[in-house]
Amino acid sequence: MTVSDPASRAVELRALLHRYGHEYYVLDAPSVPDGEYDRLFRELEAIEVAHPALRSADSPTQRVGGKPLPQFEPVQHAVPMLSIRTETDVTAQGALAFDASVRKELALGEADPPVDYVAELKFDGLAISLRYESGVLVRAATRGDGVTGENVTQNIRTVGQIPLRLFGDAPPLLEVRGEVYMRRDDFDAMNERQLAAGAKTFVNPRNAAAGAVRQLDPAIAATRPLSFFAYGVGEVSGWHAAPESHSGLLDALGAFGLPVCAERARAQGGAGLAAFHDRVAGLREALPFDIDGVVYKVDALALQQELGFRSREPRWAVAHKFPAQEMLTTVEAIDVQV
Ligand code: NAD
Repeated sequence: MTVSDPASRAVELRALLHRYGHEYYVLDAPSVPDGEYDRLFRELEAIEVAHPALRSADSPTQRVGGKPLPQFEPVQHAVPMLSIRTETDVTAQGALAFDASVRKELALGEADPPVDYVAELKFDGLAISLRYESGVLVRAATRGDGVTGENVTQNIRTVGQIPLRLFGDAPPLLEVRGEVYMRRDDFDAMNERQLAAGAKTFVNPRNAAAGAVRQLDPAIAATRPLSFFAYGVGEVSGWHAAPESHSGLLDALGAFGLPVCAERARAQGGAGLAAFHDRVAGLREALPFDIDGVVYKVDALALQQELGFRSREPRWAVAHKFPAQEMLTTVEAIDVQV
């Protein structure tokens, strides 16, 4: 690459990111570590910021996820399933930078009080949208390209942690958004069973979970030990006394019987977020599942609405990643049965 030739570097980066994105999102079979993908992504973003004319609508920086597979029935998301901007500074400073950007967008001055946030773990699995009508699970869909996902209801019904019927006073229409993942102990035990049976082993819990959800055979999906955390909602209607904050929303989802991760905190201002970031960085190894960072969200839903969205991500949330943990060495085998 020569610095004087950003146009051809952008073409090169786009081609690479398209290929890696396809392997990751569509085939559940990445060939490079996430850290490498993120580095190339940021390089392309920087070129596009410096040279806006080079930004094209099909650039990986403008899109979410990957194309849904034709083997699955398509599902149109009434509320798109978006990406989350990644804060580039992996130190606790990244939390302060996000707070500063929120305060700027909301035109808050130094005399104004700190913004309230919710800080959560960034689960390393697969995003899923669960549609409950009159409290009953009627459909489950992957994120796909954010607008069109894949109908994976039969596979999701095999996940014991996902309620088929909600408790309590759930609204008549509720789309729950969350992450399907595989615990580390379940992953290890599953790989041991595969080895003992002379079958293929899986590269990491994220790809094992994504492969299981996007199985064509629900009987096989049923043998894969999947778990779930809810972290938000999509389309909702008829919710009397709907919560006014994200923290209230998570509590309500928990009360409906959905698993919500206890490792979350309300935080005041950038300092509160930075403290959560540092605490979780120390906890990360001991967690029973993989995370690739933390997510900060503005708590008040009215402020979220005021902040709105950029093309592929909300302005009221950011992913604050930890330094890459995964080293993708040899890809022994991947379970891509689609
Ligand atoms: P993202 O980083 O934009 O984050 C959005 C996703 O975060 C959501 O869809 C959801 O699934 C997940 N999430 C987890 N916890 C959450 C929480 N508490 N609240 C809200 N959302 C939560 O996701 P993306 O665009 O799917 O993935 C981008 C990342 O995927 C890259 O940064 C890279 O690390 C990885 N990737 C790797 C390759 C590769 O070849 N290795 C290719 C493509 C993408």
